[in-house]
Amino acid sequence: MPIHEEHLIRPEDLTTHDDLVIDGVDVSGHWSTFIESRVVTDYNEAMEEEIAALPGGEYIHRCWQCGSCTNSCTVNAINPDFNPRYWIYLIRMGMESELLRDKDIIWQCVSCNKCTYACPRDVFPEGVMKATAHWLELKGHTPTSPSMHFDEEFSSQVFATGKIEEGRIIRGFFRRTGQSLKQGWLIEMVKGMLRNLPAGLLIRMGLANALKPRTRGWGGARAAIEEYVAEQETHHRQALGLDALVRQAASELDAEPRESRA
Ligand code: SF4
Ligand code: SF4
Repeated sequence: MPIHEEHLIRPEDLTTHDDLVIDGVDVSGHWSTFIESRVVTDYNEAMEEEIAALPGGEYIHRCWQCGSCTNSCTVNAINPDFNPRYWIYLIRMGMESELLRDKDIIWQCVSCNKCTYACPRDVFPEGVMKATAHWLELKGHTPTSPSMHFDEEFSSQVFATGKIEEGRIIRGFFRRTGQSLKQGWLIEMVKGMLRNLPAGLLIRMGLANALKPRTRGWGGARAAIEEYVAEQETHHRQALGLDALVRQAASELDAEPRESRA
């Protein structure tokens, strides 16, 4: 008998024999399709607390799994594997290895916040997606995502000057992500700006690019922001146990025979 809603099962969890006869009965194809049993043994019981400690994840405990976030999700409409409700379930259950199977798509949330408006429990699923992507990076499961590179470039400019200047942000973002500035769409965009924007505005933009002006009296605000950010980073490291993870990795490396490290 065929499996109903087979598309909901991951292909790697399905086993099918294309050519199988048992006791003279041909059970090839869907007649011999089995769903692999899954046994989860490596729970991370602190996972919900770890995500909740990061900005955006604070209200994950409110989720009652109604699925409104996934139903309204922009990215889910294109890719059914992008499933905020399911990931929130995995996080609350501590099923880290299951979550890691989707680690390369979680960062793709486009922050449209349709889920936020649909959620009846004020979980802020968009924030949970951001916190989860951040958690994956902090734990070393994924490299720094393009969106995190952008956030870091944006923040560093605000911290330094109290202002942002779009041209410098784009240049900094491209530098961080190893992209060339000579991309067709970017060249066309700049040409369009040169053709259509008032000359005075273009001159001001050029000056801001070159001179990097600061907000007046920014020094005090900058010091306060940097102190707050440092406090938050320390809090996040403690909540995720990152220092202990680093110590453990270092001691495991020390215990390894030198020749096996090559
Ligand atoms: S904010 Fe992210 S998770 Fe929410 S609906 Fe938009 S793409 Fe989906
Ligand atoms: S809409 Fe809110 S309560 Fe419903 S599953 Fe999504 S996060 Fe949970």
